[in-house]
Amino acid sequence: MPKPPQAAQPSTAAMRDGVMVSTVIDWFASEARDLPWRREDCSPWGVLVSEIMLQQTPVARVEPIWREWMLRWPTPAALAASTQADAVRAWGRLGYPRRAQRLWECARAIVERHGGVVPGGDAALGEAELLALPGVGDYTAAAVRAFAFGQRAVVLDTNIRRVIGRAWHGKPLPAAHLARPEREFAAALVPAAAADAVAWSAGSMELGALVCAARVAKCEECPLAAECAWRAAGKPGLDEAPRRTQAWHGTDRQVRGRILAVLRAASAPVNVTGLAVLEDIEPGQLDRCLGSLVEDRLIALVENDKGAYVLG
Ligand code: SF4
Repeated sequence: MPKPPQAAQPSTAAMRDGVMVSTVIDWFASEARDLPWRREDCSPWGVLVSEIMLQQTPVARVEPIWREWMLRWPTPAALAASTQADAVRAWGRLGYPRRAQRLWECARAIVERHGGVVPGGDAALGEAELLALPGVGDYTAAAVRAFAFGQRAVVLDTNIRRVIGRAWHGKPLPAAHLARPEREFAAALVPAAAADAVAWSAGSMELGALVCAARVAKCEECPLAAECAWRAAGKPGLDEAPRRTQAWHGTDRQVRGRILAVLRAASAPVNVTGLAVLEDIEPGQLDRCLGSLVEDRLIALVENDKGAYVLG
C-alpha cells in the first residue's frame, strides 16, 4: 500500500537560520532605539525622507535635521512648492548635498505622478513606482516598502550585510559590491510573514549599527554570539581588511561642502573667489569645485563679471 505523501521537513540549517532570525527579532523588540521615523504616526513621506538622509550619515546627525525638515515640509507637496535652494539650505551639513536636490526632485515627481501620495502601498506596483522616482534605488525602495507600508521586502544595507556576513559566513566585512549569491542568501533569510520580515530587517540593521559595528564588534552584548561563525573563528581578517572611509580634509568633497556652507549662510550672491574663509583653497581646486557644483545644479553663477554665486 503506497505511503501518503509527507510534507517536506525543513533542514537543520534552515531551522538554525530561523532560530537566529527570531533571536534578532526578539532582541530588536527590547533594544530598538525610539526614533521618530519608526513611530506609528510617522507618514510614508517621513520614512522616505529618513531613508534618504540616513544614507552614509549617522542617526545622531540626521535626527535634528529630519525633525526640522518634517515640520517645514510635512508632505511631498510642501517641499515641491519650495525651491531647490531652500532644500539644499535646509540640508545643512548632512553631507552629500545632491541628496537634497534629489529629494526635492523626488517630491515634485510624487506630486506630478502620484497626486502627492508616496507610492509603494500597492504590493504589485509599489516597487516599480518607487524605483521610478528620482534618488530612489533598490535599497530605498525596499526600505520604504518595509518600514512605511509593512510589506515583506529584502532590505539590504551595509549594516545588515555585515551582520549576515559575520554571523553566517564568518567574513569580517561585506564585499564592496553586492553580488547575486549574497542577495539570494539574504533573501532566503527574510521571514515569510510580512511583520516578521519588517522586524528582521529593522532588527538586523539596528544590530549592525549598535553592536556589530564595522570596526568594533561588541560580541559580549550580541544575541547571536553563540551561533556567530566569525566569532567562533576568532574574528579573523578585520585588521587586514581595507578601510573604506574616504580621506576628507582637503578633498573636493570637503571644498564643495565649504562653498555650499558659505552660500547657505548668505542672503545675496557671494563672490566666492575673493572670500577670506576660502582663501586657503588652491585656485585650481576652487575653480574645479565651483564648476562641478554648477554642473550638478547645486549652485548658479549669477554675476559673471564679479564671480558671484547663489544656491541653485
Ligand atoms: S557575535 Fe560579534 S561578530 Fe558576531 S554578529 Fe554578534 S557582534 Fe557581530
